[in-house]
Amino acid sequence: MSSSTIPLNGHDYDATGGFTSILECDECGLRHGIGHLAPGSSALCQRCGSTLLRIPVDSLDRSLALVVGGLILIVIANTMPFMSLKIQGRLQEADLITGAIALLRQGMWPLAAVVAATTVVAPLLKLGATFYVLAGLEILRPWAMIEVYLLGVFVAYVKLVDLATIEIGVAFYALAALMLVMVAIDIVLGPEVVWAAMERRGLVTVPTPAPEETLLRCEACSLVAPVVRHGSPCPRCGAHRHFRKPDSIMRTWALMLTAVVLYIPANAYPVMTVISFGSGSPDTILSGVKELALAGMWPLALLVFFASITVPVLKIVGLAILLITTQRGSHWRLRDRTVLYRIVESVGRWSMIDVFMISILVGLVRLGAIATIEPGIGAIAFAAVVITTMIAATCFDPRLMWDAAGEQP
Ligand SMILES: [Zn+2]
Ligand SMILES: [Zn+2]
Repeated sequence: MSSSTIPLNGHDYDATGGFTSILECDECGLRHGIGHLAPGSSALCQRCGSTLLRIPVDSLDRSLALVVGGLILIVIANTMPFMSLKIQGRLQEADLITGAIALLRQGMWPLAAVVAATTVVAPLLKLGATFYVLAGLEILRPWAMIEVYLLGVFVAYVKLVDLATIEIGVAFYALAALMLVMVAIDIVLGPEVVWAAMERRGLVTVPTPAPEETLLRCEACSLVAPVVRHGSPCPRCGAHRHFRKPDSIMRTWALMLTAVVLYIPANAYPVMTVISFGSGSPDTILSGVKELALAGMWPLALLVFFASITVPVLKIVGLAILLITTQRGSHWRLRDRTVLYRIVESVGRWSMIDVFMISILVGLVRLGAIATIEPGIGAIAFAAVVITTMIAATCFDPRLMWDAAGEQP
C-alpha cells in the first residue's frame, strides 16, 4: 500500500465537509472523532489511555507474507517429530499432538480438548481467519497459546533431564518460529487497514451516519455505525451488537465464583503421578514447584509458582475489585482500574504452563514399568480454573465502570 493516508471506518461524514471517523474506546466507552491517520501512527484514548486504533506500515503485504509463512510452519510442526526420550535404551518419540492423544486414552478428554484447542486448532484458525473472517481475530487472540506451550515444554524438559536423554525434534523449532510469526502478525496486521481495502474494492459497504442517529460500536470489528432498528447487526461484519456486553456483571460474578470453587480441588488433588519401577508418587501443583526448587531450579520454580498459584489468585481478586467498585458506582482511580482490567485480561493464559507441561510429560513418558506419567484429576480442575477466569475477564465490560461513575460515553 502506497497511499499516505488511510480513510478510517469508511466514514466520510463531517459537518464541515472534512473527513472524520468515529471511534469508540473499548475500555472506557468514550467516543472520539478522528481524521486522517497516517500509516505508522496510532490514536490513543484521551480518557483512559488505551489504544483506539493503530495503522501499521505496509500492513497488507507484510501480513500476507507472515500468514503464508505461519501456515507452512504449522504443517511442519504437526507432521515432524517434536521430542524424543531415551531411558535405559528404550526410545519414545512424541509429536505435537501426542500429548493430547495420550490424555484422551487415559480418559482425560476435557484436558485433551483444551491442549489440542490452544496449541493446534486456535493458532490454525487464527492464521486462517486472518484473511477470511476478520471478525474472528479479536475473539481468537487470547486462545492461541503457542508461547505458553513452549514454556511448558521447557519446564517438562527440565523435569525429565535427570531421568532420560531428550532430543528436540524439527517440529519444536517450527513451533518456536511460529510463535515469532504470530507475534509479528499481531504487530503488522491492522484490521482497519484490511477493512478499508475491502471497502475500496466494494466487498463491504458501510453506511454513513447522520449527525442525529444513534450509534453502536461492534465488538467484533470495532465499527461505530447507526442502529437501523432494534437489534440490527453490524452492517460491516454482521455480528450482533450491544451497547454494553449483556448481563456483564452477573456473568462475571458467576464465572469468578466458579473459579474460586474449582481452585480448591485444583490445588488439593494431584495433577500427575510419576510411576517408576512400580511405585508412584503423586504431584500436586505446589509439590511440583517444591520439587523444582529442591532441584536448585529457583528461577523456574518461581516462574511456575507465579503462573500457577499467584496469577489465578490475582485474577480472582482483580475481578472482585472491578465488580465491587463498578456495582458501587465508585469514582476511585478509574484509569488505574481500566489498566487493572487490561492486566487481568492478558495475563491469564500464562497459567496454562502447568497444563501443557503435564500433557507433554504424559505424552512422552509412556515406558510401561520403567517410567510412566499419568495425569491426575487436579489437572482438569486447574485447567477449568484458568478457562473460567479467562472467560470471566472477557465477560466483564470495563466501560460499565465509567458508566457507573457517571462519566459520559
Ligand atoms: Zn478509553
Ligand atoms: Zn462488525
